[in-house]
Amino acid sequence: MTGKVDVDDLKKRLTPLQYSVTQEAATERPFTGAYWDNHESGSYRCVVCGETLFESQVKYDSRSGWPSFYDVADKSKVITRADNALGMRRTEVVCAKCGAHLGHLFDDGPNPTGLRYCINSASLDFDKRPGE
Ligand code: FE
Repeated sequence: MTGKVDVDDLKKRLTPLQYSVTQEAATERPFTGAYWDNHESGSYRCVVCGETLFESQVKYDSRSGWPSFYDVADKSKVITRADNALGMRRTEVVCAKCGAHLGHLFDDGPNPTGLRYCINSASLDFDKRPGE
């Protein structure tokens, strides 16, 4: 993790759900978040540090109830690491800049990558592209 995260500041700035997802690796309930069904053009940023992580062009409907992307905006913007919690072998996706938990990475995504970045809406802010 780069940059020091001030817990009190985060608790003021984030909703309880945003806090528990990004700082405690909780998962929002599917089909409840702000962005799983968002089809607007724009950029998805880390809700904690503001870094652009995903673009709408690589978002697709995975029918999982979470925003799903088959690629990242820039490979350097996210870190993946093994997550063996809850008796499952999964790959966690984390913001490279601030360490916020974003979601998990699966290998059942569409072409061209075959990847599915399964991301919590609560970890993201959305910037609608001007003029669209
Ligand atoms: Fe971040």
